[in-house]
Amino acid sequence: MSQAPFAPVAPADAHEIGGGIFGLMGQMDHENLFFCHDKATGLKAIIGIHNTVLGPALGGTRFWNYTDEAAALRDVIRLSRGMTYKAAISGINLGGGKAVIIGDPRQLKSEALWRRYGRFVESLKGKYITAEDVGTSTADMEFVAMETRHVAGKPSWMGGGGDPSPVTAHGVYLGLKAGLKEVFGTDDAKGRRVAVEGAGNVGTYLVKRLRQEGAEVWVSDLHQDRVEHACLSYGARPTTTDALFDLDIDVYSPCALGATLNDRTIDRLHCSIVAGAANNQLEDESRHGEMLREKGIVYCPDFLINAGGLINCYAEYLGNYHQQHALEMTEVIYSRTLEILKTANNQGITTHEAALRAAASRLEAVAILKSRL
Ligand code: NAD
Repeated sequence: MSQAPFAPVAPADAHEIGGGIFGLMGQMDHENLFFCHDKATGLKAIIGIHNTVLGPALGGTRFWNYTDEAAALRDVIRLSRGMTYKAAISGINLGGGKAVIIGDPRQLKSEALWRRYGRFVESLKGKYITAEDVGTSTADMEFVAMETRHVAGKPSWMGGGGDPSPVTAHGVYLGLKAGLKEVFGTDDAKGRRVAVEGAGNVGTYLVKRLRQEGAEVWVSDLHQDRVEHACLSYGARPTTTDALFDLDIDVYSPCALGATLNDRTIDRLHCSIVAGAANNQLEDESRHGEMLREKGIVYCPDFLINAGGLINCYAEYLGNYHQQHALEMTEVIYSRTLEILKTANNQGITTHEAALRAAASRLEAVAILKSRL
């Protein structure tokens, strides 16, 4: 049977590039890859545009010291595809794209490199809009903005949305509350027991919101000062990333790194809900999604509930940015999460699969609509 144009791609992800670059693009259904090189500044970047059915491809630029070029290629392919689904499920009119810059950001970053990169982005004439990501900052986007209009995540004095973390945290909080509603029949977090892994930008906002609502919150981080800050400022309790998996809790909230839902952790989890900010929480999308389902744990899909950062960039892209507007646009995450959880339940599929199907169905509907115009 032939596959529908926007059927979710098997989540095997881009592990192999033996089939060549076009093989990889075909496997993940990519539109474009742009390789950008500038000898003078040491810039080596790959811009991946996965899909522009919904609009221009927006996604941050990751600056990372990849072990080799194949690793950078795999990352840009995987991340840009993820952005397509994140935008589609969030109901916003953006396509999926992402970029990577290869090298050590501490050694390579310079005004010249960013401006050269900005010129490459400009040459795509708005088909790709960049923003910050791991290894890049609002200050870096200031340099990019000197050469192109097609950049979000700029500082507020430039009309930008600045740090998206408060908006991301708001969405995660709403997704978590939808999970509570599904499991307990009420979304009141008072008295619920939540473990937040990673007290960084997003995790700390989340701890604050949950504590304000009267939840009991545990927090872990690799950096003890982060844990202390969350405990002293908001009355959270300290734990460690290992001990967290033995706690008897209602919600596990991964807000550090991806792939923390895996063969080693799922068996140890004592919770009813997983809802957090980290990207790619399921080490293996289908297998670990299914393991959670079999254990009766409600998984709030990461790319649905952590979309606040993207929505913040979208609000900036639309112009006349106000954080309040972005926060309001993010509220859709609550009802959409409830819908996805119900669909998954009714259809006997994982919540991750239900979210992928919903995103794919919007992409397909809009593609048909546009083909008729
Ligand atoms: P951050 O870097 O500010 O915070 C991450 C924290 O996790 C750090 O304090 C770090 O020390 C801690 N950490 C790392 N490994 C850990 C481990 N094994 N155990 C416990 N703590 C660990 O990042 P952030 O902006 O708060 O983002 C958190 C996660 O959410 C990331 O995975 C990010 O990709 C994702 N995300 C963030 C946004 C956003 O707007 N910031 C948007 C979408 C997704």
